[in-house]
Amino acid sequence: MSTIFEKIISGQIPADILYQDDQCIVIRDIEAQAPTHFLVIPKKVISRIGNAEDQDRSTLGHLLLIAAKIANQENLDSGYRIVINNGNDGGETVPHLHIHVLGGRQMKWPPG
Ligand code: 5GP
Repeated sequence: MSTIFEKIISGQIPADILYQDDQCIVIRDIEAQAPTHFLVIPKKVISRIGNAEDQDRSTLGHLLLIAAKIANQENLDSGYRIVINNGNDGGETVPHLHIHVLGGRQMKWPPG
């Protein structure tokens, strides 16, 4: 069973795409939790960060660099938060790794 993100990557389902390359796609979150909220998603299916393998090292690095690049492009000059939810307790709802980038408001700590 493919996830919603695989359907977005393949173009079956539309999304507001901010960027894509051979390794990842960046889309705006459909239920934004901040004025700016986008997701950096590897095109390769990695179910969650807890299941990533050594061979995913360069992809994982790429995702973080793209997260920062798109945050700059989105003018998040006063800061932003990067989140990866892992598993049930982590609040993960889509089992396809994705990095949340949230900005445009003051973030709180500890997170909920
Ligand atoms: P998780 O809870 O797994 O960390 O994050 C999944 C995220 O995907 C949620 O923030 C949710 O709003 C977002 N999302 C779920 N379905 C869609 C969709 O069809 N399109 C977009 N753009 N985002 C989605």
